[in-house]
Amino acid sequence: MRQCSLLLHAQKILTQDAQRRILEDASLAINDGKIVDIGPRRQLECNWQATRTSDLGNVLILPGLINAHTHAAMTLLRGYADDLPLLQWLEQKIFPREAQLTAELVELFSLLGFAEMLASGTTACLDMYIFEKAVFAAARRAGIRLTAGEGVFGFSSACCACWQDALQYTEELVASTAQESRLKVIVSPHSVYTTDPQILTASLHLAEKLNLPLHLHLSESPQEVAQCQKAHGQSPIAYLSRLGLFSRPTKLAHVVVCSDTDLDILSQAKDTTILHCPGSNMKLASGCARIPLMHQRGLSLALGTDGPASNNQLNMFLEMNRAALLHKLTANDPETMPASTVLDMATLGGARALGHNDLGSLEIGNWADLTALDLSAPNLVPCYEPASHLVYAASGHEVVLTMVEGEILYDHGTFTRFDYESLCREVTKVIASIRKMA
Ligand SMILES: [Zn+2]
Repeated sequence: MRQCSLLLHAQKILTQDAQRRILEDASLAINDGKIVDIGPRRQLECNWQATRTSDLGNVLILPGLINAHTHAAMTLLRGYADDLPLLQWLEQKIFPREAQLTAELVELFSLLGFAEMLASGTTACLDMYIFEKAVFAAARRAGIRLTAGEGVFGFSSACCACWQDALQYTEELVASTAQESRLKVIVSPHSVYTTDPQILTASLHLAEKLNLPLHLHLSESPQEVAQCQKAHGQSPIAYLSRLGLFSRPTKLAHVVVCSDTDLDILSQAKDTTILHCPGSNMKLASGCARIPLMHQRGLSLALGTDGPASNNQLNMFLEMNRAALLHKLTANDPETMPASTVLDMATLGGARALGHNDLGSLEIGNWADLTALDLSAPNLVPCYEPASHLVYAASGHEVVLTMVEGEILYDHGTFTRFDYESLCREVTKVIASIRKMA
């Protein structure tokens, strides 16, 4: 018999492997945070001696969901300003509030965001914000997997006095996370409309120097495109292409407005991933990204919630549901964006977005990042097709267990690494003092 640290049994395992196998009465063997075997329970029980065995019973285990575009600390501003157009919402409501942020607030509210993610089956995310050292600190406390970068702007932020400082800060992030397998850094110029050619070129050069990808908001609304046409004589996508940004792996949030010419540019780019955020796009009425066409053209697609101030949740089950329904309605075609395609975006697509080829599916050699849903929840009975349930029936509240690298981080309502009640007390205190100031 071979030795492993954990043997996990479940009624069903959705693997997301190349054959999209769904195993019944199955088990996972985990050692050193990685999957060392997966298959029928009887077989694994014969082959593996585990330090610990856990029978989760009537659950569905699936790869941990990956939130490929978010600003976790914006839980601070959840519900603070709703029902406004993007640029007005940002410039009049969000940016002035963010100018008053501190590292302590960012850490506290990022931890709250990570709690919401872990409790709803998300094991990894791609984050862009300010005070990202504090976001990494929160990720260490929660245990979640995080790829993140400091937002680079053409104006000062509460964290960095200028864009040069933000790039310097990005270099410091790399040094401070180098030894941690769960943490990765990405160069994050915020967007075309909050930067200029010099900043974008400097961001590209830093990405080249550190061998990192780039993450930015792009072509999010018709207003942004009109502004870019006026300022630079090109669409945001053509403008980034001219500046050479697509020579690096780029992670592009939104891409709501995308002409046929833009689509050709993206198709020819070496390594781009579109980070689709349907909830945020609908709430801000930014428009509907041409995701089905991008899928047909073979573009790499992932799914994100965006920040909780424009969603207002960090729940990937809700986001999968929105992605499937939005495109069916818009295309007037119920066959558009089937559940399996949307689930791929939230798992394998997310893994590509984070630059991980060892995530997104439950296979030997991959990290044991996974979540388990209680199949006895009334809304999940009966279960003919698990992918259908994940996209159309589950709400995320059926999650009973979430683990990263074989470490259980959320177990039947309890977070294992931090005290959720004291986090809530702290949040209540902070909100009361902010209300007093306002
Ligand atoms: Zn965003």
